[in-house]
Amino acid sequence: MELAVSCPTRKDMQVMESAVDVFLRTKHGAARNVMHSVLRLMMDKYRTDRMVLSRCCVSRNGNYVRVMAKNYITGRECPGCGKDFMCTEVSIVSIFEGSEADRVCYGCSCGEIFGRVEAKT
Ligand SMILES: [Zn+2]
Repeated sequence: MELAVSCPTRKDMQVMESAVDVFLRTKHGAARNVMHSVLRLMMDKYRTDRMVLSRCCVSRNGNYVRVMAKNYITGRECPGCGKDFMCTEVSIVSIFEGSEADRVCYGCSCGEIFGRVEAKT
């Protein structure tokens, strides 16, 4: 049964976006924990397992929170700053394993989140 979910307030959206931002800009383990806690709290508050933010979608399974890209790239460059996705500014945020290809979600310290479909070799 689908519960009616109200739209997050502007303030709540701001808290979530900032938590994602701090993690992307610092790549700090503590910032990742904060981001996951904030997202989990908000999903509890709005009784949902899924949220759509400005640059990513968030879902959870129990306590496990997953951040997924909204934009996918086919090349190698971060759509935000143009850096190569293999450079040290970019790190993997999540991986969805598929049978033929994986969907890998990257986070760049410029604040961008993007995905790439990576075929299995
Ligand atoms: Zn970037």
